[in-house]
Amino acid sequence: MKIICIGRNYAEHAKELKNDIPEEPLFFLKPDTAILKEKDFYFPNFTNDLHFECEIVVKIDKVGKNIEEKFAHKYYSEITLGIDFTARDLQQKCKEKGLPWEKAKGFDNSAPISSKWIKLDSIDFGKTEFNFFQNGKLKQKGLTSEMIFSIDQIIAYVSKFITLKTGDLIFTGTPSGVGPVQIGDVLTADMNGEHMFEFMVK
Ligand code: MG
Repeated sequence: MKIICIGRNYAEHAKELKNDIPEEPLFFLKPDTAILKEKDFYFPNFTNDLHFECEIVVKIDKVGKNIEEKFAHKYYSEITLGIDFTARDLQQKCKEKGLPWEKAKGFDNSAPISSKWIKLDSIDFGKTEFNFFQNGKLKQKGLTSEMIFSIDQIIAYVSKFITLKTGDLIFTGTPSGVGPVQIGDVLTADMNGEHMFEFMVK
């Protein structure tokens, strides 16, 4: 499986990192070794500025290529929450040199996800909200109504270039409020009032 991540999908987050609001989805990949489930996260030794980015994650249910936006909803049925961990210092250096971001975004365990999946037919996705807390303090609040590109638009766009397969995950972008984590932090999140994950940083 592969992990596709969308960048700059909430206007306020694009602004906080001084990026333009994109005219088409921006995406990058993480390898399957980035997934971390229900385990402690160990702070990597190659960064001094590791940021959390809490995001809605969509699981692809069937194989598709060149999927039309109007049919995209047939390719997924569940969502969850995850963190797109980012070594912001490495990413900044890559950006300055116009180099790829993989080492800043795709390292081992850089994609912790909840083990709880929410069926889309059980919620009103358009009114879904999620909250991310660092040591109990609210840091990020996401509203699906504020996504620049919808899940269907993302699937249509990405599948023009890359075949989507069953089990692939799409991280749909983070709202504003990203910030650094420290060893000892407890990272938790909820979606529509339901507890979704707790990760310790060690
Ligand atoms: Mg992200």
